[in-house]
Amino acid sequence: MDTSSPATGQPDAGSEFAGGDPQQLFRESLDQIDTIMIITRSRRDASGEIVDFDYVYLNAAGLRMMGRAAEEILGRGLVEMFPSHVPDGWFDVYKRAVESGEKQHVFIPTFDENGVRGSFEVDVWKFGDGYVMFGRDMSEQLERQRALEESERRFRSTVESATVGIALVSPEGTVESANPALCHMLGRDVDSLVGSRYDLQISPEDRDRVDQQVEALRGGADRIMLSDLRLVRVDGQTVWTRCAAIALRGPDGEVQHFMTQFEDMTAEHRAREELVYRAFNDPLTGLRNRSWIADILETELRAAKRSGTGVGVLFLDLDNFKVVNESLGHEAGDELLAIVADRVAGAAGVDVHVGRSGGDEFVAVVPGVAEPRALELLADRIMIAINQEVSLQGHRVVPTASLGMTVSTARSTSATLLRDADAALYRAKSEGRARWVFSDLRMHERAMARLTVEDGLRRALVEDGFEVHYQPVISLRDRTVVGHEALVRWRDPVRGLQLPGTFLQVAEETGLIVPLGELVLQKVCALLRDRPDLPGRMSVNVSAVQLARPEWAHRFAATLDEYGVPPDRLIVEITETAALTVLDSTRADLARLRDSGVGLYLDDFGTGYSSVAVLRDLPVTGLKLDASFVRALDRRDQASSALVTGMAGLVAGLGLAAVAEGIETADEEETLLVSGWGLGQGYLYARPGPEPLTELGS
Ligand code: C2E
Ligand code: MG
Ligand code: MG
Repeated sequence: MDTSSPATGQPDAGSEFAGGDPQQLFRESLDQIDTIMIITRSRRDASGEIVDFDYVYLNAAGLRMMGRAAEEILGRGLVEMFPSHVPDGWFDVYKRAVESGEKQHVFIPTFDENGVRGSFEVDVWKFGDGYVMFGRDMSEQLERQRALEESERRFRSTVESATVGIALVSPEGTVESANPALCHMLGRDVDSLVGSRYDLQISPEDRDRVDQQVEALRGGADRIMLSDLRLVRVDGQTVWTRCAAIALRGPDGEVQHFMTQFEDMTAEHRAREELVYRAFNDPLTGLRNRSWIADILETELRAAKRSGTGVGVLFLDLDNFKVVNESLGHEAGDELLAIVADRVAGAAGVDVHVGRSGGDEFVAVVPGVAEPRALELLADRIMIAINQEVSLQGHRVVPTASLGMTVSTARSTSATLLRDADAALYRAKSEGRARWVFSDLRMHERAMARLTVEDGLRRALVEDGFEVHYQPVISLRDRTVVGHEALVRWRDPVRGLQLPGTFLQVAEETGLIVPLGELVLQKVCALLRDRPDLPGRMSVNVSAVQLARPEWAHRFAATLDEYGVPPDRLIVEITETAALTVLDSTRADLARLRDSGVGLYLDDFGTGYSSVAVLRDLPVTGLKLDASFVRALDRRDQASSALVTGMAGLVAGLGLAAVAEGIETADEEETLLVSGWGLGQGYLYARPGPEPLTELGS
């Protein structure tokens, strides 16, 4: 091996290279190359043992490695110059090369005062009676390696100590590494993260968005940013983050890793939400605030105009709130406001928007108001809810409130509504508080009148304020009394005798018509029981509200029983309009009543729709022609008289009893007779009165 070494010939002394141009050239070229070349010769003791290696030749790179000049080193020994090579074992390495003849491949570190300076990778062969060393200076690579390791270390420690979450993700989407900040953010340990699918930590709502961005990265984008990206913590909580990701590519441009960075923005997000919440909510009561209410009022008003309904606005102000605030303190005041807010919201229900407009003022926006009465009922509910005792710091307080209300019309704007409700509230306050007031005076009066009526009806029911008057039914041919109709009257202690027109609608709306109807029937039955001499049958009127009660027919029959009145002495009158709304079950009840002998008349015939169909569908025994037809006869209205004549023929054909209502003149009587009507009722014969008649003029 030694013979094929690049140092041709058998150099055994530096002098052999001194002369001759080719040699000089060769030497010079050896000094040009980076390869280290050192030749030594063994120095042996008397016994032939190698004790040192004397330097015979070093090229320029070799000298650099040794850190010496040629004069300093040539002819001197290795151990002589570097005695530490013996204990460090280097001397043995060279000796082994010489004695065994085997090539030794080693790394030689060199040192300076700062520690390792360089590293040389060398091959050592036996060469003559010494060795030749070829080698390369690895110091630069070592330095590079060291720099790389240092930068990696620095990078790792940056990542480890970063406050932002960082993860390395494989192109297939597996988490390869995650830093402590990310683990902390997600509430997971690193082992549970590494190896998991990265998208499992992303909120399902955001996955599509992320997928799109990842595709963009794959497609060549350098960097992507995602704001408001939601990650899911191990406990299910949402972490709001700002995410940035880059693709790390190999030399071929293929993505090798994705490096992702997550900044926890949850606190900022909460702050933003809080800000938005505060912009539209009242922090004390949790109700909406004035500006939100103003917005929703606009929205509801537009919707109401489209649907043709109204929007109700209700302003509420606590009475004497100042007293609570000043005597019990602001804390008590706040507590009361929160309680009242709960009560108002509870009483209003989910469809009504309730807000606090400031101080002790609340506002409710009520969508879909068909009539003011709906608001009235709501106002009552709210007032009752508020008017419950509250204990404030040991003091018992019974709050009351004043309310102002208005309902939108086609011309309303949110501004006029708020203004009107406010004005109404002002009036409620000035009229003595603890009350509600409608903005519109007419609206208010109607509402108040209705309340008065309702109140009066309730009282009349218990105080025997109702009377029944009787109007005879007459045979038109001979003016004999053939029966009566019972008509209810209310004797109002203030306003005197009231006809049904003033109170019947309220009685129906409030359901008071049910006990009222029973009362009338009882009075009628008592009369029939006491007056067996009365001619013919007695008609009683029954409204749709009564008929809709499933127990009505049963109670009707029971009352007749109770008074011992035979069913065939009674007729039930149902208006044609009510008849249209009769349920199948009620129809069956009516049929049973009729079969028991009770007559069944359609009242106000001709004013409803599909009159003839009703005659077929209901088990009626007769009908009463509405007074409007009788009036039409006076005008000599051709069509009406034809109708009146036609209807007479129809009822006769069906075998029904037929009574014409509201006959006031002899002319009408005459025409009706000619048209085929045999029975009638009207002022011409007798007005309804407290006593039934056995004959006219009696
Ligand atoms: P209705 O059953 O059609 O009763 C006839 C109405 O015409 C009565 O009015 C009667 O006083 C009136 N009338 C009678 N003759 C004439 C006349 O010649 N000219 C005019 N202009 N009117 C005449 P009233 O008593 O005011 O009753 C009104 C309606 O109230 C009744 O109409 C009936 O539908 C209802 N009603 C009366 N009493 C009761 C009751 O006890 N229960 C129920 N559910 N409804 C009742
Ligand atoms: Mg009637
Ligand atoms: Mg009638």
